[in-house]
Amino acid sequence: MKVVIIGAGMGGMSAAIALRRIGIDTEVYERVTENKPVGAAISVWSNGVKCLNYLGLEQQTAALGGMVEEMSYVDGFTGETMCLFGMQPLIDEVGQRPYPIARAELQSMLMQAYGIEDIHFGMKMVEVRDGVDAATATFADGTTVQADVIIGADGASSITREYVLGHPVTRRYAGYVNYNGLVQVDERIGPATRWTTYVGAGKRVSVMPVAGNRFYFFFDVLEPQGTDYDRASAREVLREHFAGWAPGVQALIDGLDPLTTNRVEILDLDPFHTWVKGRVAVLGDAAHNTTPDIGQGGCSAMEDAIALQWALRDHPDDVHAALAAYQGSRTERAADLVLRARKRCDLMHAKDPQTTEQWYADLRNEDGSNVIRGIVGNILGGPLTPAP
Ligand SMILES: Cc1cc2nc3c(=O)[nH]c(=O)nc-3n(C[C@H](O)[C@H](O)[C@H](O)COP(=O)(O)OP(=O)(O)OC[C@H]3O[C@@H](n4cnc5c(N)ncnc54)[C@H](O)[C@@H]3O)c2cc1C
Repeated sequence: MKVVIIGAGMGGMSAAIALRRIGIDTEVYERVTENKPVGAAISVWSNGVKCLNYLGLEQQTAALGGMVEEMSYVDGFTGETMCLFGMQPLIDEVGQRPYPIARAELQSMLMQAYGIEDIHFGMKMVEVRDGVDAATATFADGTTVQADVIIGADGASSITREYVLGHPVTRRYAGYVNYNGLVQVDERIGPATRWTTYVGAGKRVSVMPVAGNRFYFFFDVLEPQGTDYDRASAREVLREHFAGWAPGVQALIDGLDPLTTNRVEILDLDPFHTWVKGRVAVLGDAAHNTTPDIGQGGCSAMEDAIALQWALRDHPDDVHAALAAYQGSRTERAADLVLRARKRCDLMHAKDPQTTEQWYADLRNEDGSNVIRGIVGNILGGPLTPAP
């Protein structure tokens, strides 16, 4: 069997590694000419880490991951700790430590595990078609490739999705912008092994450790979609958004490098349950595009990859049955994560300011158990983290 994968992001590379591991002939086509992921880092929650471990990347993942021993919420204005608790109960419950990882390093790890020389870079797919005996992808240079199965792991603006659904879709602006990057650990912002989140007025400032004595940081701010932005002005923009905020937030703004600070407008997509058309299927953000508010988009993409492997393993002679099994095993779970993230997004970003104020009040009485219960709820339900 030959499977062509379009897109060498986290989802596409995980799928390529997973399928190759069961002896499937895979080819990966990627439109960019080099590994340049958007965004500084991501938190790979325990379900995602279990997927990486399953792909044979346990040691490499642990080497790149930051050690988060504690989590805290801090009043953004006063700097007062609202709650502080350990991560160990979560690790004990789900059986795996989560790891924040710099995105470029995660991407390189996956590409190297598959073989960078085996990835066809600079190949932008412009059309995909199902067929009786094979599916066909056509690239911008006019070349075509045929395979038993084509997997569109072509991200949030997927053209495979359009083909599978039979119509274009419009993503929804979630109402906020995420500025993110990496800085050296600075204890004025937060302790080196703590995920520290400052909150106030529907905004959020967060730091968490990644390998190499660095913090992954992000700022969530409420800005209209399409606001003009000059990357060099990151500090000035953030100083304005966070005027009067605590010294830790000011230290972060002073310490960041504007030129490597990304500005990402956050969008998502209503869940849909058709992921397959004949021999063509979607995977990752192409199949479920979520806001990052529970840190599960990439983890979910990796879960798709494992589920796809299992479906093709269980139906080696029938690609239609395999893809139906893949779709059947994933759409509910992925939809649940998208909707959970949307709910959390609204809560954290003051869609209803009173509800958000109540959440801040609740955080002051939090011993960690409610937060951990919520995170465990996100983690459980994937192929390697079945819900009880
Ligand atoms: C600010 C932010 C923070 C996030 N934080 C987290 C987090 O903490 N934890 C988490 O799990 N997830 C997080 N996510 C989500 C995560 O980044 C995505 O879910 C993940 O990258 C999806 O992987 P993917 O492979 O499906 O898509 P992508 O990573 O977008 O990869 C798609 C690939 O396809 C290529 N491509 C697209 N079109 C074509 C074409 N026509 N032909 C050829 N190639 C093509 C692209 O160049 C790209 O390389 C976050 C997202 C954002 C925006």
